[in-house]
Amino acid sequence: MTDIATVGSSSLWKPWTWKLHWQILLGLLFGVLGGWALASYIQSRATETLPAAKLLVEHPLWQLAQTIGDMFLAALKMIVIPLVLSSIILSIASIAGRSGFARMGIRTLVFYALTGIVAILIGIVLVNTIRPGVSSTGKPLLQMEGIESFSSSFNVESEKLKKSAAIDAEKAGDTLFTRVLAVFEQLIPSNIFKSMVDLDLLGIIVWAILFGFFTNRLTPELLTIQKGFWQGIYEISLGMTELVLRFAPIGVMMLLIASLSDNFVKLSGDNRIGEFGTALTYFAFTVVCALAIHAFGVMSFIMYAFAKVNPIRNLQAFAPALLTAFSTASSNATISVNMECAEKRARVSNDIASFVIPLGATVNMNGTALYECVAALFIVQLFGFPLDVSQQFMVVLISLLTSVGVAGVPSASLVAILIILDSVSKQIGGGVDLAKGLPILLILDRPLDMCRTAVNVFGDACGAVYVAKMEGEDPLSQPIVD
Ligand code: ASP
Repeated sequence: MTDIATVGSSSLWKPWTWKLHWQILLGLLFGVLGGWALASYIQSRATETLPAAKLLVEHPLWQLAQTIGDMFLAALKMIVIPLVLSSIILSIASIAGRSGFARMGIRTLVFYALTGIVAILIGIVLVNTIRPGVSSTGKPLLQMEGIESFSSSFNVESEKLKKSAAIDAEKAGDTLFTRVLAVFEQLIPSNIFKSMVDLDLLGIIVWAILFGFFTNRLTPELLTIQKGFWQGIYEISLGMTELVLRFAPIGVMMLLIASLSDNFVKLSGDNRIGEFGTALTYFAFTVVCALAIHAFGVMSFIMYAFAKVNPIRNLQAFAPALLTAFSTASSNATISVNMECAEKRARVSNDIASFVIPLGATVNMNGTALYECVAALFIVQLFGFPLDVSQQFMVVLISLLTSVGVAGVPSASLVAILIILDSVSKQIGGGVDLAKGLPILLILDRPLDMCRTAVNVFGDACGAVYVAKMEGEDPLSQPIVD
């Protein structure tokens, strides 16, 4: 395929000949415009008896967009298990015996931990500087008593979330320590098939690492058979990923039409949002600025200074993965595309990409960690409680720890934010329940989720390039081909 920047005028009018990331970007643009147009059309037809939210979900166009979008998501997810299993087993089976194996693992984990900490620090500095939840009058925007009436529909959703978090908490004994222990508990899957059904990636990764490690110890004849088997599954999965990627521009467009029109309609349907309009705008601004500083500033600097690669080329190579992450708001659904970008476009070896990317999609969530911290402090500001440095440090720590356990699916971090708000409430004492402010976050969750997921996926991509460089490879040194 030809690059859009280099095509002649005739190809400019044939988008199907453009490079894949330009095609997806076009799909994304049409998705945003389509979502907005559909929401406006529905709003113009809404009446007192037939509210816009109901009219929208009953409209055939929305149903069509939703179905095609869901099919695209399902197509991405159906490749995850065979791809992650086969690629990790192959990667570990071939490197387990080598001396560099432990070194690569440690490098990956250190890179993930340090970039996660930096992301949270950027968030905490910005939320304390911009102070999105503090009103100009100095009076708290939210009162504990009045919050129940904020929005019944949003409250229902937050109650559901609270319940799911409460179940986890009950099981774990409801202290921060036991909640962290619960994350570690997930490391050992009692039933690998159940983990596959639940798409519980952390358990699957640990199982695959062990399986690969012991595959490496087989006799040469058995080793050849095992490797051939998993190599076949791996190559078939990559072939399927390529096929699914061909449909990405349409899939992305449909996903955005469905999710954004729904979001636009809900936004304009809630008349109480007006009270928080300014605060929410500042909040979104804070989150987006912090994410942008982290992705385009810090990560690009790390790529330039430590991995010695051109940050623009790095962005170009991973553009299809970033755009897919942005439109699906799911790190899990983006694993196959990110691995394809790492191996085919950035030329990271299969051994490294197979280990670093699936692991990152599960434990490395820079965008989510940053968001958790900013969102929790925003709610604290709305209620007007001042937090001292040690309390803020606590928020930083819980954000980092809980981000490891957050699943790579849409809105997953809301449960983690609930845990943070619960812990801060306990510290403040006096029956304060900051979690009551959570409904406010649901208003803008989808667009902010899209942004933070793209940053999560970018963190894994940078991790793969960085580790590859440190292990003596030369990623991003050749032209990017689709
Ligand atoms: N949607 C995010 C992801 O998949 C998780 C979250 O922050 O809600 O990476």
